[in-house]
Amino acid sequence: MDIRTSYKNNNYTISVANDILENKLKTWTEQYEDVFYLIDENVYALYKDTKLKNIHSPIVVTGGESFKYASPLMNTIEKLLELGIKRNSLIVVIGGGATGDAGGMIASLVLRGVDYIHIPTTLLAHDSAIGGKTAINSLHGKNLIGSFYRPKAVIYDLDFLYSLSNDEKLSGFGEVFKHALLLSEIEVESLMKVTKDSIEIKDLTEFIISGIKLKMDIVTKDEHESGSRKFLNLGHTLGHAIEYQYKIPHGQAVMLGILFSLYLSNEIYQQDFDLVKYYNFMAHHGYPVQLLQNMNEDDMIKLMQQDKKNHQGDLITFILFSDTNTLTLTDIKKSDLYDYLRRIKETL
Ligand code: NAD
Ligand code: ZN
Repeated sequence: MDIRTSYKNNNYTISVANDILENKLKTWTEQYEDVFYLIDENVYALYKDTKLKNIHSPIVVTGGESFKYASPLMNTIEKLLELGIKRNSLIVVIGGGATGDAGGMIASLVLRGVDYIHIPTTLLAHDSAIGGKTAINSLHGKNLIGSFYRPKAVIYDLDFLYSLSNDEKLSGFGEVFKHALLLSEIEVESLMKVTKDSIEIKDLTEFIISGIKLKMDIVTKDEHESGSRKFLNLGHTLGHAIEYQYKIPHGQAVMLGILFSLYLSNEIYQQDFDLVKYYNFMAHHGYPVQLLQNMNEDDMIKLMQQDKKNHQGDLITFILFSDTNTLTLTDIKKSDLYDYLRRIKETL
């Protein structure tokens, strides 16, 4: 399946399917005199003799999040310059969201910007590879240094997803679940049905595609997050606090944050979300739902307040459902939030 962006210019295609890497990559690399590969070390170790066997002399970069810092970024830029990268070269970034974020930023910086394509290798990257945001982390927090820089193409070969650890699969699935919920209740019901017993990568293709389409639709209209792109942060207000405090993978924390958003939607907008059903689904698959019971209200509020995106004065912003299909940015007073965080423990 090829999905094309519809910006005014600089459009690109996201190709999603099994076993597409070799052919799709060839059509791109043929167009450039020099191609430089940046590959996550863990991905390279797993696939160097199979799917990546035709890639010679790649720059193998630190795996996952540890690549998203100034020093590995600068080292990689220096390496590219040492190898003679030119303005008309191509950078191919192969890895998950972290490699994609830092690799995209490198492409945007080196020689003031060279073309790049992203080959995502995680389930979570169905989210992170769409929307053209690049970033590294600062001493002051995650993703605080970055740019908007679109790739020339995204080649999402789903074969890579079968080697993900269970933890990473659950994390990526959190964002798949979020996209389904943002799309419609029918979509999320159908996702939960397919994954009732276990989450199998082979069953997720249609949901990955609909998630990509939804995200693309939103970011095309609102690239710089001044309006509807904010809705993609469903579950992220509490999610980021849980992720930070308990050091669990992003999408797993988002899943817990989504449950809290549904609880707030019931409380504030009299919605009728079946919390027990969602809770049981998450618990069954091994999401750390007990954190919702064990979390410390003060710690969570303090962290949510530090997240500049979510907070104004005494208010913390949540994405809630004010109606079955209507999302609303809702500001909640700290004191009320304290009560909600306490009361969800009794509800679950
Ligand atoms: P990741 O890139 O850190 O990968 C997670 C782990 O899985 C790493 O250890 C990696 O080496 C390993 N891995 C990657 N592919 C694998 C494979 N096929 N098989 C086995 N192991 C594999 O994490 P992620 O969850 O893909 O992405 C998270 C990052 O994405 C965060 O840094 C987050 O800030 C960023 N993000 C960006 C956006 C955006 O819009 N740019 C959106 C969401 C998240
Ligand atoms: Zn997220």
